[in-house]
Amino acid sequence: MVLYNTLSKKIEEFVPYEEGKVRMYTCGPTVYHFAHIGNLRSYIMEDVLEKFLRYAGYDVTRVMNITDVGHLSSDADTGEDKMLKGAKREKKTVMEIAQFYTEAFFKDCEKLNIKRPDVVEPATNCIDEFIHMIEVLLEKDYAYKAGENIYFDTSKVADYYALTGHNEEELMVGVRDDVEEDTNKRNKSDFVLWFTKSKFENQELKWDSPWGVGYPGWHIECSCIAAKHLGEYLDLHCGGVDNIFPHHTNEIAQSEAFFGHGWCKHWFHVQHLNEKGGKMSKSKGDFLTVSLLEQKGYNPLVYRMFCLQSHYRKPLEFSYDVLDNVAAAYQKLVARIKNLKAEGEVDRTKVEEYRQKFIDAVGNDLNTSSGLTALYDMLKGDMNDATKLALVEDYDLVLSLGLMSAREEAPAEAHDDELVSYIEAKIAERKAAKKAKDFAAADAIRAELLEKGIVLKDTREGTLWEKVQ
Ligand code: AMP
Ligand code: ZN
Repeated sequence: MVLYNTLSKKIEEFVPYEEGKVRMYTCGPTVYHFAHIGNLRSYIMEDVLEKFLRYAGYDVTRVMNITDVGHLSSDADTGEDKMLKGAKREKKTVMEIAQFYTEAFFKDCEKLNIKRPDVVEPATNCIDEFIHMIEVLLEKDYAYKAGENIYFDTSKVADYYALTGHNEEELMVGVRDDVEEDTNKRNKSDFVLWFTKSKFENQELKWDSPWGVGYPGWHIECSCIAAKHLGEYLDLHCGGVDNIFPHHTNEIAQSEAFFGHGWCKHWFHVQHLNEKGGKMSKSKGDFLTVSLLEQKGYNPLVYRMFCLQSHYRKPLEFSYDVLDNVAAAYQKLVARIKNLKAEGEVDRTKVEEYRQKFIDAVGNDLNTSSGLTALYDMLKGDMNDATKLALVEDYDLVLSLGLMSAREEAPAEAHDDELVSYIEAKIAERKAAKKAKDFAAADAIRAELLEKGIVLKDTREGTLWEKVQ
């Protein structure tokens, strides 16, 4: 496949170190709050990438950390400790918060058909590994002690800004969201590997270390957890674009200094999901979650499809209008697939031909919207239903829109095209009646549909329906 690489700033052939094998690392969530649907956009696109690589025949090992320590509210080592903030907000311990939101994260992932990575490792499991890596960095003179903290010296790295392609001044302006300056740092871009002199008096989680009792910086955890499970060479590293600087830039500096050679070949970054006011972010407090979408009557897989319709390298603005259109498209798609009869022989030649079309579409810099178009084209293709069904199942290994399980959920006749059109017409009629304040007519339509086993749900974003018998 060809894939954009943030490091080379080019779309290039994806070539792992070892033929046929992909060592893939993903930055996991900071578990002080629910994941918002912006975070989940990144995880959905990373999930499709992983599944596509498997589909294309690679043996993938994917590792994810869970950030349960060390992440301050500014990525540049300043501001509040995010985990403490969550614990204070909910009057719980940091570990309780971490456990609760880790479970909540994986529940959301399950609803979105995001596969659990092969290895999931909380940062607090790996304190010994962090200490070891920091000791080596000190020995190799890439790190120094100042003001009782241990810092990484970025001036020792040949091309510290390679991943970002920007200069120091430009970057530091964006990152520093307060005026506080750490005078211990030799260079502005140096970062903390280990805090012993914490400004948080009530820091809950602390560990003994050769430099005194303290806790690790955020960046060291990903370098260590990747090394622990994937070794010295990484093929693919993923995250949202906000991770490029300083987090991933610092990971490269630490890992390459530690190993003494180049580390990760390919960097994959997902652009942000935005709201009208800008980037959706957890720290703003007011953000959209999967549960909220469910409460509004949306199937989480509709949100997955919403993400797949757009390219991962383009910012995506969330809107309920667009989500409604996707919900309708999803319903139609499922109805269409339900109408396919599992009869006849699967035409293997056609399957191969259409598999290749799908690989060509998605393999072009993870073009998931072309992947969806390939699915629609295939459904229109000149072949029998059994072949189409085999291909739906096959494409859904990557798209993971639950297309086959949706087919099995209800009897096929409940979702024929005619019925769907009839329900949609009735919903439109009812909307018009309500607008004309003819509530009796609107109620009559609801009752008429209910007799046919169709329940209507009015949501702020429009009327949704469900077949209950
Ligand atoms: P966090 O839990 O803040 O560490 O973030 C988890 C993942 O979500 C990281 O890969 C971030 O880069 C990514 N992320 C954060 N905000 C957004 C957003 N608005 N849209 C897409 N991805 C995001
Ligand atoms: Zn990370």
